[in-house]
Amino acid sequence: MLKQSYQLFINGEWVPSRSGQWFETVNPATEEVLAQIARGNKDDVHEAVAAARQAFTGPWSQLKPKERARLLFDLARAIEQQIEPLAHLETLDSGKPLPLARKEVLSTARYFEYYAGAADKFHGDSIPLGPDYVDFTLREPVGVTAHIVPWNMPLNMIGRSVAPALATGNTAVVKPAEQTPLTALYLADMMNDLGFPAGVYNVVTGYGEEAGGTLSTHPDIDSITFTGSVETGRRIMHAAATHIKPVVLELGGKSPNIIFADADLEIAVAEAAKGIYANSGQICSAGSRLLVEKRVKEEFVARLSQRAAQMRVGPGLDSPDMGPVVSQEQYERVLDYIQIGQQEGAALVTGGQRPAQFERGYFIAPTILDGVRPQTRVAQEEIFGPVLTVLTFEDEEEALHIANGVNYGLVAGIFTNNINHALRLATRIKAGQIYINEYFAGGEETPFGGYKQSGFGREKGLDALHNYTQVKNIAIRLR
Ligand code: NAP
Ligand code: MG
Repeated sequence: MLKQSYQLFINGEWVPSRSGQWFETVNPATEEVLAQIARGNKDDVHEAVAAARQAFTGPWSQLKPKERARLLFDLARAIEQQIEPLAHLETLDSGKPLPLARKEVLSTARYFEYYAGAADKFHGDSIPLGPDYVDFTLREPVGVTAHIVPWNMPLNMIGRSVAPALATGNTAVVKPAEQTPLTALYLADMMNDLGFPAGVYNVVTGYGEEAGGTLSTHPDIDSITFTGSVETGRRIMHAAATHIKPVVLELGGKSPNIIFADADLEIAVAEAAKGIYANSGQICSAGSRLLVEKRVKEEFVARLSQRAAQMRVGPGLDSPDMGPVVSQEQYERVLDYIQIGQQEGAALVTGGQRPAQFERGYFIAPTILDGVRPQTRVAQEEIFGPVLTVLTFEDEEEALHIANGVNYGLVAGIFTNNINHALRLATRIKAGQIYINEYFAGGEETPFGGYKQSGFGREKGLDALHNYTQVKNIAIRLR
């Protein structure tokens, strides 16, 4: 199933990169090279955009919405059937535990299913202007959509944005993260086999600036959906300004998970652990700041650290609780932050290094930093690793103040049995999703996206369909 080398997928065909160059993708559990990947550059991006344009104006626009829907439903079923090879590839490439990879594959299938269902149901309005007029709106696809995706949930992020784009009649050019290109390419083969017209889905693998940068400044794309860091998001926004292209930015987070003393603490401990250690903390919506009401803090942290210390860390293929982080770079970055936290005065309660049984692989034990002050770097900056920072609060007002006291605003968790606490905070926290009494509650159906520097635009749910359509109003004077 794993090939030695992978070419670019452009216009329904596997093609070499114009430069003839390659780069390597690595297994984070072993540090071994998995495969050679074609290094796409601007010439390849031009080809891919041209192919997507041709498919958009040609065969894809000839299909009826219900025909597009059927193809997308077929793809959803095929992804479910191919769960094992897809999950296996994702685990090899990203390091995540196999059971988590399977979940993400099923969720990807669900995105295609959900948006397939919307393909023939998302339509315009008629607007009453009195007896002399008939007025209605059309929802037209934007055209060629660019998708620049990160390495933390590689296939799932593609499903999240490509499914609504295709459902509404657009075509796509995808630039996967250089660390995790394999499943984007596997998906291409699947779509080919199912009879998607050539050029509807194109994949240009390559480096950030070289492939992604060219894609985001390309004059003939019509929208950019970017998921990744704030720093790159800022560049993408500048790039989009070159030709006035709309952007959706899903950036990072430093999300608070707020635990009141009256919560069911057993559930809250389990959910707090899930919120930070799932995917080794490499989730933009991770609950990376634990805010605990002071009078239960000692007990809560003791229970949580016991749980963290019991987690099985290991290679993703062994189905552990937690796999390695994705790369050497990320490994070093996370360990640096653990040092910084201690220098800033936080106490290392558990974890903090590679578990002793591993000599290689980017493994980091589940880590807790206690006694973190709100203005320190580890309380403000996204670590994107299995590192929980613990802060305390006395009352609801203080919890709110700390929760909102960062530049990010992606999600927030609240654990309490008091509906007043929960809903007052939920309405006052500046974040795009609020989870009450279950971290990561919601699904493909629920709109997701950031406040503040976590970005703008909403993915998931019906809201995402707006990213890939524009409204045209047609007003008719009756004579
Ligand atoms: P990143 O460096 O911003 O990379 C994301 C993607 O952008 C990759 O495909 C990358 O390619 C590409 N890229 C890099 N430089 C580019 C440029 N100048 N022009 C165009 N594309 C460029 O982020 P990352 O380190 O991979 O991912 C971690 C970050 O993503 C975290 O901050 C995390 O919170 C955020 N994230 C957010 C969400 C969300 O939904 N809000 C989801 C997942 C991750 P290369 O891989 O080749 O560099
Ligand atoms: Mg890899």
